[in-house]
Amino acid sequence: MNSDCLFCKIIAGEIPATIHFEDSQLVVFEDIGPQAPHHLLIVPKKHIRTTLDLTPLDNELVGHIYQIAGRMARDLGFSEAGFRVVNNCNDAGGQTVWHLHFHLLGGRDMTWPPG
Ligand code: 5GP
Ligand code: ZN
Repeated sequence: MNSDCLFCKIIAGEIPATIHFEDSQLVVFEDIGPQAPHHLLIVPKKHIRTTLDLTPLDNELVGHIYQIAGRMARDLGFSEAGFRVVNNCNDAGGQTVWHLHFHLLGGRDMTWPPG
């Protein structure tokens, strides 16, 4: 728990969010500014600042995050149509919240390349 961190506060229940799934390792909640009909954030409970701060100890966690991404896409009914999982890292990557998270976007056709 980092008391200056928005997502740590959501995980701790100090700031409300629409939570879709939670287990011992992560929380999945709706993005406040959705960029697709379905836009969820998959957020590890451990405060990890960016992708660059991952260590080999986090390998199982990252695998679990992708498992949950697929499960959520299936549960919400857009897995077969297709979806996108996005991680933004640092300023040029578009990161604005400094607690590792993965966007799960679905429910519309995505474009390539991303902006
Ligand atoms: P990033 O830009 O770091 O990849 O993604 C951060 C995401 O967090 C953005 O898509 C933004 O809309 C979302 N976000 C920012 N503040 C809040 C908030 O207070 N609650 C929720 N649910 N999402 C937030
Ligand atoms: Zn945090």
